Amino acid sequence: VVKCKSVSKIYKLPGVEEEVRALNSISLDEDSEFYPVKRGEFVIIRGPSGGGKTTLLNILGTLDSDFDGELFIMNNKITKDCSDDFLSRLRLKNIGFVFQSFNLISTMTALENVMLPMTIDSTSSEKEKLKRAKLLLGRVGLEDRMDHLPSELSGGEQQRVAIARALSNQPDILLLDEPTGDLDSTSTIEVMNLLLSINKFGPNNDRKSKSTIVMVTHNPELECYANRILYVQDGEFIKQAINEYQQA
Ligand code: ADP
Ligand code: MG
Repeated sequence: VVKCKSVSKIYKLPGVEEEVRALNSISLDEDSEFYPVKRGEFVIIRGPSGGGKTTLLNILGTLDSDFDGELFIMNNKITKDCSDDFLSRLRLKNIGFVFQSFNLISTMTALENVMLPMTIDSTSSEKEKLKRAKLLLGRVGLEDRMDHLPSELSGGEQQRVAIARALSNQPDILLLDEPTGDLDSTSTIEVMNLLLSINKFGPNNDRKSKSTIVMVTHNPELECYANRILYVQDGEFIKQAINEYQQA
């Protein structure tokens, strides 16, 4: 579902001579030790701060298409020349995002936040959207918090709303950047167990729609949840580890 070849990213700051080489020829490719992200895989990208993790995730998620090299998302070739319209359609249909700081809309309830991506994209009726949003909030364990505003929810609960929202358009890939970075250890475990369940059984809990997950973290304790851990340092993959079993 995700493949890339020699992806490099250089940040040029206006008025500054010096450039930052944030990614240095990163590949997820059949010809490389670092093979492409497979359907249903749970990949963790780990490494020190400033290593290029967020830059990489933003490129894989097509939020940033200003890079050198080749990227394929669900067999769509992504280049500098892709239009914003094409990329935003691709994101809306195929990719769910979760960020460290939840990024919920503060004036909307949990239910309204989850419905929002469907309102922008989906052709289904209002009734169907409502039904799916309620189902998803149930899936993340928040059936009794649907009408709460983000400010009336704990950090862990807000992040679970954000996960439900990311799943609302049935994306092929879920991308998460430090989703537990602002959470206490109890909420971290709750969120990680939820992600593992979504990866293994899918958003609908029917084992049919297993979600592919790519998650960035600097927390080594979370590695046990993944199938594969990619270590990023100084803009390069330095090694990978494969877990035979995923466990909570
Ligand atoms: P990580 O997520 O692993 O902490 P980042 O991808 O955020 O790393 O950053 C990688 C490198 O790129 C760092 O040296 C950082 O300072 C630099 N960088 C990140 N974003 C920008 C930006 N918008 N402009 C200039 N430099 C940036
Ligand atoms: Mg980061």
